[in-house]
Formats: sequence, structure tokens, C-alpha cells
Amino acid sequence: MKNLKTMTKRIFSNPEKTKEKMSLARKEKTWEEIFGIAHAKRMKKEMSLLVKTEVGAKNRNWKDDISYGALHQWIRRHLPKTLKCEKCNKIVKSSKYIHWVNKSGKYLRNLKDWIRLSVSCHKVFDDNFMVAIRKRL
Ligand SMILES: [Zn+2]
Repeated sequence: MKNLKTMTKRIFSNPEKTKEKMSLARKEKTWEEIFGIAHAKRMKKEMSLLVKTEVGAKNRNWKDDISYGALHQWIRRHLPKTLKCEKCNKIVKSSKYIHWVNKSGKYLRNLKDWIRLSVSCHKVFDDNFMVAIRKRL
């Protein structure tokens, strides 16, 4: 397994080819499918920022990083696919309306770092998260 830093660099150097390769190599769900398009986009954006900036490189503990594929598998294996939003307690009709959200922004292999949020709560979370990222960088 390639580490996340390498994966991220590769994805950003050739996004289309990487995407194609990934879908061929692994019959797994994409980040978009698991987290929702907006969140997956944000995750990729944040990772690219972390790779590009020295601040990110210093603050980030690369030992905790795992590859995209491994993280997918791990999330699916260990976290219950509930339909209840952990913020507003609403129960959504299907998994389409609820996303996995990473609380720390570090995508840790830690159950406490992941929550289920309804689409509307996720949007609010994303907005706050991006503000925090901008301040950090
Ligand atoms: Zn909610």
C-alpha cells in the first residue's frame, strides 16, 4: 500500500488517470460515493494543501496516514452504517442523505474521529471546517 502522501501527489499530478486506475484496480466505492461529492472534494483539496505546504508537512503525522483504499475498507468494516444524524438526531430515509464526516480533518483510523451527519448538518460542518483550514494554513 502506498502511503497517503504519495497517493495524494499522484492523484493531483494526473487526476483522471488515477481515478480510472483506482476504479479498475479496486471494485470499491469512491470517496465521492462514500462521503458525498462535496466532502470528497474537500478531503482531496485539504490533502493537496497539506502536501504542498510546509506547515502541513510539519503538523501532520504521516505515520497515522493510510491509503485511500485501506481507509475505505476500514470505515466500512468498523463503523455502523446508521441513518441517524449525530448532530440533529434526524433519521434520514436512505444512506444517500447521510455522510461520513471526519471531525479532525486528519482522516484518522480512529472511530471517534468519524461521525454520521445528515446532508444539511454536513454542509454547516464543511463551511466551518474550511474556515478553520484557512486559518491553520
Ligand atoms: Zn443533521
